Amino acid sequence: MAVMTGLFKSYTCNECKSGRSFDPQSIETIISTYGEKNLLNKIIECSCGNKFSIYEGIIQNLVSDNIFSALEAVCNLRYHDTVQIIVGKEYTVNLPQKLLINQVFLTNIDAGAIVAPHFFSSFETDSFTIVSSESKDNDSGFKKIRENHKVSWAVFGKSGDKPTETWILLLTQIKEQIIHGQYNIAVLTSEMMFESFLDKSLNKMLISEGLSKEASYTILESMKNIYDKAHKLLRDLDSKGLSSDKSINKEWVKLMELRNKIAHGENIDVDKEKAEWALKTALDAIFYIYMNSSVDIN
Ligand SMILES: [Zn+2]
Repeated sequence: MAVMTGLFKSYTCNECKSGRSFDPQSIETIISTYGEKNLLNKIIECSCGNKFSIYEGIIQNLVSDNIFSALEAVCNLRYHDTVQIIVGKEYTVNLPQKLLINQVFLTNIDAGAIVAPHFFSSFETDSFTIVSSESKDNDSGFKKIRENHKVSWAVFGKSGDKPTETWILLLTQIKEQIIHGQYNIAVLTSEMMFESFLDKSLNKMLISEGLSKEASYTILESMKNIYDKAHKLLRDLDSKGLSSDKSINKEWVKLMELRNKIAHGENIDVDKEKAEWALKTALDAIFYIYMNSSVDIN
C-alpha cells in the first residue's frame, strides 16, 4: 500500500468547510490509475469558488473538528445501512466483525419515531440494537407502536488493528488527544508523528543510496538533532530540505520550539486552537516532504 493511501477518506474546503468523501470501494483503483501523487496534486474547484489540491483538502479534513471528520480520523471501521424496524420492538443490527463502537447515528426515513442505539453490553461487540418508541406528544408525523418504520444507521468504531505506519497510528492518537482536551500532549505527539515520518523517509532514502539497513539505522540513531535531519540530511539526500519552503519551515520551527518548552516542563498554556495548529503544521511538513521527494518513499 502506498504511503498516503490510508488517508484517502475525505477532503474539506478550507473556505466554506464543505467536505466530500472518497468512495472506499473504488479508491484503490483510482490511485493505481492516476498514480498517488498525481491524485494528491489534483486541483479541486469548490462550489464556493475556492481552489485547492486534494492533499490540502485531506489535511484540512484531518485537522477539522467536525464530528464526522474526527470520527473518520479516529475510527478505522465504518458501516451503514437502512433497515425496517417495528416501533416499540427491539431490532438487532449484526455487524460484519467485532469492534469497539465509538458512535452510532440513527436517522428516521419518511416519518418520525423516537429511536436510540443500545450497545453497552460489552467493550467489543459485533451487533447493537435499535430501541424505538412513539412520541409522547402524539405528533402526527410520528409512527405509532407496532407500525413499520424505516431507519438508516451508521456505525463508527475501531477494530483494534494497528495501522502499518507508525505515524498514522500517532495521527489517530493526536485526534483522540484533542477530543479529550489533552492539548499539550497533542503538541508533543504532533512532533513525534513528524519525526516518525521523517525517519522512515530518510531511512528509505539512505537505503536507495546503497546503504545497508544497519548502516542507515546507525546514521539516524546517531543524529540527535532533528534540525540536522530535516534540513541538512534531507537536503543532501533529496535535493530539498524542509527549509526550502520558507512558510512551512517557519511554522515547523515554531512547533519544534513549543514542543521543547512543553517537554522541558515549562508551564505553557496550550488551547485547542494551538493543538490543531500543531497537528496542521506537522501534516503540512509531512506532505511537503512526501510531495517533493524524488526518491520513492512508498
Ligand atoms: Zn468551498
